[in-house]
Amino acid sequence: MIVVSSCLLGIPCRYDGTGFRRPDIMEILEGRDVLPLCPEQLGGLSTPRTPCEIVNGMVVGKDGIDHTGSFRRGAALALEEMSNFDVSVALLKEKSPSCGSCLIYDGSFSGRVIKGTGVFASSLIDMGVPVFSEEDLEGFISFLM
Ligand code: SF4
Repeated sequence: MIVVSSCLLGIPCRYDGTGFRRPDIMEILEGRDVLPLCPEQLGGLSTPRTPCEIVNGMVVGKDGIDHTGSFRRGAALALEEMSNFDVSVALLKEKSPSCGSCLIYDGSFSGRVIKGTGVFASSLIDMGVPVFSEEDLEGFISFLM
């Protein structure tokens, strides 16, 4: 089973109420078992919602409100859902405070990106689940072969 960030499958679960149309990803995943997960929605955050970034280990909204609890709850519920399946790998959305596996926004809400890991992606990496992003589809395809 492949865990995939729901928004990469076109599901409109992003903070701004959109999803991504990625025919290339759909083609790679065709015929494979996929578990779409959006940890932010699972954590009870609304869609649309205030954009959040990681600041000193906390997940804070652009409005200054601390949403760390919702992000952690969402990650825990996503892991619980995963436990029902034999998950071999994850394809997660880069730069997200939940799903980013190599890069995240720097917490200044200025569009700057730094090395870092989102709350959900961190949990998967800690568990030893191989995590790829949509920015490394070559690596992902190699893993699947
Ligand atoms: Fe996409 Fe993950 Fe953000 Fe949900 S939490 S919108 S799946 S990047």
